[in-house]
Amino acid sequence: MTSAMLSGRDPHWGDMDWDLLCRLLKEMREAGVEEIGLFYLGESFLYRKLPDAIAYARELGYPYIFLTTNGRLATPDRVRALRDPLPCWAVFTEGHITYDGKLAACCFDHDGRFNMGDLKEMSFTDAWRSKAFQALRNANLCKEVRGTAYEECIAYR
Ligand code: SF4
Repeated sequence: MTSAMLSGRDPHWGDMDWDLLCRLLKEMREAGVEEIGLFYLGESFLYRKLPDAIAYARELGYPYIFLTTNGRLATPDRVRALRDPLPCWAVFTEGHITYDGKLAACCFDHDGRFNMGDLKEMSFTDAWRSKAFQALRNANLCKEVRGTAYEECIAYR
């Protein structure tokens, strides 16, 4: 389920009233909605209160918030203002397997410090869902990455 937030010059389109948006976001979250799209057929970045809308949806506890854009107004500064960057996204989306069959948690784990499982001994799924990997993902979500690969990530220096 997504909310409708239309933008544009067409008389049938416009920005959703802020109070209505807040009410619907709250009602839907209370009804158990977990994923919210802050757009509907319009260009998300035309909506001036987009950062506020995302912040409110976060405050309400939506785990997944998404939007679409044609990118023309999505300048780096505006995109940065919308998101709260995590130290590492790869931990949620990428698996790196070494020549000897280890699942590594970091694409630069050259010395095997972040071995999440030996795939000669276990399935990829078990290693991907291992406690060690879950702990690393939690560290990212909490932004408490001291002592993990992410503390020294060269991509963020
Ligand atoms: S190098 Fe950085 S971004 Fe890449 S996987 Fe490692 S911690 Fe994540």
